[in-house]
Amino acid sequence: MPETVLNETTATVSPRLRLSELAPGVYQSEIRAMTTECDRIGGVNLAQGVCDTPVPAPVRDGAIAAIQAGHNIYTRMDGIERLRRAISVKQKKDYALDYDAETEVLVACGATAGLHAAAMALLNPGDEVILFEPFYGYHFSTLVSMRVKPVIVALAEPGWTVDIDTLRAAITPRTRAILVNTPANPSGKIFSRGELETVAQACRDRDLFLLTDEIYEYFVYDGAKHICPATFDGMRERTIVMSGFSKTFSITGWRLGYVTADARWMAAMAYFHDLTYVCAPSAFQHGAAAGLEQLPASFYTRLAADHQSRRDRMVAALRDAGMEPTVPAGAYYVLAKAARLPGRTAAEKARALLAATGVASVAGSAFFRPGRGEDLLRFCFAKKDDDLDDACARLRKL
Ligand code: PLP
Repeated sequence: MPETVLNETTATVSPRLRLSELAPGVYQSEIRAMTTECDRIGGVNLAQGVCDTPVPAPVRDGAIAAIQAGHNIYTRMDGIERLRRAISVKQKKDYALDYDAETEVLVACGATAGLHAAAMALLNPGDEVILFEPFYGYHFSTLVSMRVKPVIVALAEPGWTVDIDTLRAAITPRTRAILVNTPANPSGKIFSRGELETVAQACRDRDLFLLTDEIYEYFVYDGAKHICPATFDGMRERTIVMSGFSKTFSITGWRLGYVTADARWMAAMAYFHDLTYVCAPSAFQHGAAAGLEQLPASFYTRLAADHQSRRDRMVAALRDAGMEPTVPAGAYYVLAKAARLPGRTAAEKARALLAATGVASVAGSAFFRPGRGEDLLRFCFAKKDDDLDDACARLRKL
């Protein structure tokens, strides 16, 4: 992974030996840059959203057993039947949504690959997709990489609320979809039922797809319940639900997620997923299926409770460090104010914090349009308890 920003000088050798039009604008993500720097100085990495909490036993053992049982070859392009069925059962149990395991479930190489497949299948170059800001960088960059234009709608502070007039004003004849990430990275916002109804209404009125990234569906705090907008009237047929196992089962490196959507869209999504990945990792699919089949409801409530406790510790430490955190309602990130740190930009402030405390965070600017988010840092609290406590103690010394 290159560490420098690619520019025209590095990108062009001769008029024909050169990178694509898109590639010169590619840069290494701030998150990876901070991770590299953190590893170099041996700090505590709260930059990357890798939850390094233990993998649940049925998931781990299910994958190991699958390798030993010889499940090591390509699977059907949309995933093994066992996992497609388990996902279908899960969507029914959690949200009373019916998805046919044969035609309406795609096992993908992460929610990331799910969005890629959905965008390839549904969007054309020049189309516009609405993203709420602060946004998850991969959403923005994935769309750009397909020559789709992300149109940014700022969530209003405090509380990162949806302003209906701003949303409606952003919809143009080129708009094809709205993308909602709830619970959200990096803000921890959970879209309220009212906000989701508003978004859904805009989708119905203007005949748009709704792309939902629900990867943090089980990371909801203070008794909140996750709402899947595909459950709203007239929304199932136009909602592409993307989620995955990276976060819930702490298997970010296994690359396993899924999409559930109406059969009309699914075959094309599976086709594009096949072109890039062929299939999701075979043995890991069995592990995830075992997790869905065997883990009791208490696993998910415990997951939320454990992360709520981590959230509370993180928020308290940031307050003690004078960094004014916004308390997240879900997901596992906290945005905090960086005003007291030296530096002109959030990236400089993040490096100053790393140098002073050994705690790596991500510059808030990574989640906003240029010029915004420069007063914010994002901290990930999905860490082993010892590491989190170490990070909190270091922050308090600031
Ligand atoms: N979506 C959001 C909002 C995320 O924050 C992340 C990881 O940080 C992902 C998707 C990645 O999901 P996956 O590992 O399933 O590709």
